[in-house]
Amino acid sequence: MAPKTLELAQGLLKGERVCLSRAITLIESTNPEHEKQAELLLEYVLKNRRPGKSAFRLGITGPPGAGKSTFIEALGTMVVKEMGHRLAVIAVDPSSTRTHGSILGDKTRMAKLSVEERAFVRPSPTRGRLGGIAQHTNEVILLAESAGFDTVFVETVGLGQSEIEVDQCVDMLLLLVPPANGDELQGVKKGVMEVADMIVVNKADGDLKTLARHAVVDYSHAVQLARRKREGWTPPVKKCSAATGENLKTIWEEVSKFKFQMRNDIADRRMEQSVAWMWSNFDDQLIRYAHEDPKIVTSSANLQKNLTSGQVSPRHAARDLMKVFLETLKATK
Ligand code: GDP
Repeated sequence: MAPKTLELAQGLLKGERVCLSRAITLIESTNPEHEKQAELLLEYVLKNRRPGKSAFRLGITGPPGAGKSTFIEALGTMVVKEMGHRLAVIAVDPSSTRTHGSILGDKTRMAKLSVEERAFVRPSPTRGRLGGIAQHTNEVILLAESAGFDTVFVETVGLGQSEIEVDQCVDMLLLLVPPANGDELQGVKKGVMEVADMIVVNKADGDLKTLARHAVVDYSHAVQLARRKREGWTPPVKKCSAATGENLKTIWEEVSKFKFQMRNDIADRRMEQSVAWMWSNFDDQLIRYAHEDPKIVTSSANLQKNLTSGQVSPRHAARDLMKVFLETLKATK
C-alpha cells in the first residue's frame, strides 16, 4: 500500500472526516492505480477497525420532490443533536451516469446538517462504475462505519431499480412520499412498496394536512395488500412534516423499534448481503477480465463485421465469444 493510502486509512480509523472524504474519493476513482489502492485501503480498514463496530443503516427513498433532503436534514439534525448519534448521510445518485456529474451534488443540500460536527454528508455519484449502486454504496458505508459513525442514512432517488438495489445495503428502507390521492398513489411502483419497511407521508402541514391524512389511510390499505417482506414486521405508515418538524420524533421511535425488534433479522440479512456482494464482485471481475482479454477484443471486432452485415445473430456471436473465452482460460491453466 502506498504511504499516502496508509496515512488515509489511519486517519479514517481515528474518525477524521477529511480522511473519510478522501478515502471515498479514492474508491470512486476508476483509475486502475487508484482502484488498487482503494482495495488495499478497504482491506486495511476492515482488518484494523475496532471489532463489533457496526452502524445502523437506514435507506431513505422516494420520488423526486417528496422532500427527501428536507426530511433527512431535519431528522438528521434531531438524531445528531438530541440523540447524540454520529451520522453519515450518503446520497446515492444513479442519474450521474447520464449527466457526468452529480445532480444531487449540484444543489447545496442539507447545509445545516453538513456543518454539524457529528455529521458527514456526501453525495455519491455512481458514474457508470462497474458493480452498480449496491457494491459502491456498501464500500462507502463500510468506510463511514469504520470512521466511527454509528448511524448511516443512504438516500436514493426513486427511479425504480435504484431503491431495490439500495435495499441490498441497508438494514431498513423508509419510503418517503408526498401527500397524494389514491390515483396518484398508483405511481409509486409496486416493487418499491414491497421492499419498504416503513412509509412516511411527508408535507402533512398547512393545506396539505387533510390530503396527508387520506394518503396514510390509502397507503395503509396498500401495505395490507402488498407481499410481506419480513416475518414479524408490518410496515407502519406515518405522516410528518419535514418543514415544521412535526412528528419526526414518532418517526424515529418507529425506526428504533424496528432496530430493536428486528435485530436478529438484521444480523441474518447482513450475512446474506455479504454473500451477495461477494458474487457481485466476482461477476464484475469476471466481466472485466473477459472484456480486456486480447483474444476477446480481436474476435469481437471480427464478429462485429458479420453482425453488421446481418450474417450472424447477436446470440450466436455471443456464444462464439464465450467459446473463445473458455479456450483462453483453458490455455492459461
Ligand atoms: P427531494 O427532491 O425529495 O429531495 O425534495 P426536497 O427536499 O428538495 O423538497 C422538495 C420541495 O418540497 C421543496 O420545495 C421543499 O421546500 C418542499 N418540502 C419538503 N418538505 C416539506 C414539508 O414537510 N412540507 C411542505 N409544505 N413542503 C415541503
